[in-house]
Amino acid sequence: MTSLLSVKQAQTILLDAIQPLEVEPVALRSARNRVLGEALHATYDMPFFTNSSVDGFAVQAGDTAQASLETPVELVVVADIPAGSQPVVTIRQGQAARIMTGAPLPQGADAVVMVEATDHYHRDEELPVRKRVRIHEPVNSGDSIRPRGQDVQAGALLLSAGHALRPQDLGLLASQGYATVPVFRRPKIALLSSGDELLDPSQPISPGKIYDANSSMLSALLEDCGAEVISAGFVRDDEDATRSKLDDFSAAGVDLLITSAGVSVGAFDFIRKVITQNGDLTFWKVDMRPGKPLAFGRYRGVPVVGLPGNPVSAFVGCLIFVVPMLMKMSGITDHQPRMLQAKLVEPVESDGRESYLRAILDEQDGKAVVRLSGHQGSGNLFALTRANALLILPSGVKSLPAGYTVNVFPLMNGKITDYG
Ligand code: AMP
Ligand code: MG
Repeated sequence: MTSLLSVKQAQTILLDAIQPLEVEPVALRSARNRVLGEALHATYDMPFFTNSSVDGFAVQAGDTAQASLETPVELVVVADIPAGSQPVVTIRQGQAARIMTGAPLPQGADAVVMVEATDHYHRDEELPVRKRVRIHEPVNSGDSIRPRGQDVQAGALLLSAGHALRPQDLGLLASQGYATVPVFRRPKIALLSSGDELLDPSQPISPGKIYDANSSMLSALLEDCGAEVISAGFVRDDEDATRSKLDDFSAAGVDLLITSAGVSVGAFDFIRKVITQNGDLTFWKVDMRPGKPLAFGRYRGVPVVGLPGNPVSAFVGCLIFVVPMLMKMSGITDHQPRMLQAKLVEPVESDGRESYLRAILDEQDGKAVVRLSGHQGSGNLFALTRANALLILPSGVKSLPAGYTVNVFPLMNGKITDYG
């Protein structure tokens, strides 16, 4: 059956066919870009304890009220409190304790005087602390103190389920004592290109052949979006070779099979035939440019997306259809790509299909502007590498004049969250 679907309809069918994967514990150091499977709450107040934000002297602020450079206030140093220690003294009127940044504030003290405002400034740090300290500036109660719970209170929601972990999130979780975190399993994917014309880039070129561009490109895109690509290569246009590859992949327990090329009506397109023998494959024409042909089905129960062979069509198809699937499998709830608006600096034309044109998004007088990055042929990868965005023309629109505002989909450096 061949039907013409809108991009939205095709996306919906694909998304409805898959579910988020299981949640597994992962060591925090390996959890970057992984998606939280559960909400995580604060176990502790942060800071854990009231502490000093500077190197200096813990005091009773009232003692320093009259302090100046000319008439310093002299206090008796009763303790030395390095970071990592637990003070046992209580600071009384007329007393001070030397304290380092991050060390717990001793009982009785309500402020810290920075060392720069004392006669200990510029003193050799190796020397033992003196018995007395002269304070040159007054401080107020609470100065240079980080109170317990200032940043986070125990029980507070730190991060929600569905959140992709960034470096700063790992820092927060580490500071709360999380050594492992519950995250969605990474989707396991096998990628298969096909074509008698294909050569690996390591092979010498020969007449009529081309290098396989899709394997490197699509596996990198899928990995950037959090997938584990267990195989990325091509088969000849040969029925048995194709079947044997697909059997291997389904036996390896992949979550999704992606093919490129070989699903259209060419005489040597075997992928379609082989999948149908052990599953089903629906071939659609999507109202989209580039990348009109798209196939979806199951092979031995494993979902299969068949992308077009032309490299730009394959890339755009992967971005628009497969990446949202990966995001759903990875536990991200909002899988719609983020669009921006920009003004056309030149007229653009398409053929009336929903078009994703390779474009350069720029800024002019503080406003976003966009122009095409080169020839829009669906095999022309150079124009794709020069693009930093896809310019979207809605279905039914064949041309737009310069000055018109259009939607653009910025192409970022992979990373699962860039798409969601
Ligand atoms: P097909 O869908 O097999 O008819 O392929 C469509 C076009 O994409 C043809 O020009 C192929 O040579 C090209 N093509 C298919 N697979 C790849 C690939 N892996 N890398 C580069 N070009 C490809
Ligand atoms: Mg082919």
